[in-house]
Amino acid sequence: MGLDINCPQCHRLDLVQSVPALCADGMSTSYGTNLYSGVGISTSGLVPIVGTATIERTHTTSLARAFERGPALVPTGRLTRIGVLLLLMPLLTLGPAIAAFLEPGQPRTVISFIGTMMMPALLAIPAVATLLGARSRRRLNARIARGRPHAHAVWSTAFYCHRCGLAFWPYSPVTGVPARQSVTPQQFRWLVWNAAGYHNL
Ligand SMILES: [Zn+2]
Repeated sequence: MGLDINCPQCHRLDLVQSVPALCADGMSTSYGTNLYSGVGISTSGLVPIVGTATIERTHTTSLARAFERGPALVPTGRLTRIGVLLLLMPLLTLGPAIAAFLEPGQPRTVISFIGTMMMPALLAIPAVATLLGARSRRRLNARIARGRPHAHAVWSTAFYCHRCGLAFWPYSPVTGVPARQSVTPQQFRWLVWNAAGYHNL
């Protein structure tokens, strides 16, 4: 005897679809061009950079969106690059500041050293804040990635009845997910996210 994938609500099979198939149907990809701008460093100083990039957009129907497996990963590369660029400024001022401090005849006290380091330290604040922001994003991404196999195990075994607008599992993939019991898309999402530990993200 195989799995009973009749809808537990209407007891029919004709409008039942597996959730992975539902999401594959509800997704399409398009390509386009986006304008980007930023600031670069050249020998003559900071220069504006404007260019175009080919981007890939994924369109999702609202039903497929309700059946998403979890939060999307947040991009970190750009934030890290900006942080590294911002770090150049304090590093460039550090050498001359130390050279001035070591100049003969200058007072070499703790106070004058702190005064010397003040400007590079102040200039480093935006860089440090940006890099810390990128680090917390990477940690968030790591948590999302850790939860994905658990989310997938629950998500991929579910079915959806288009007549009733309800999802169900023919068998319980993990404890806490009920077998043959219809749930709304919201409840479905809650169960998947709960299995992956995404609720306190
Ligand atoms: Zn049904």
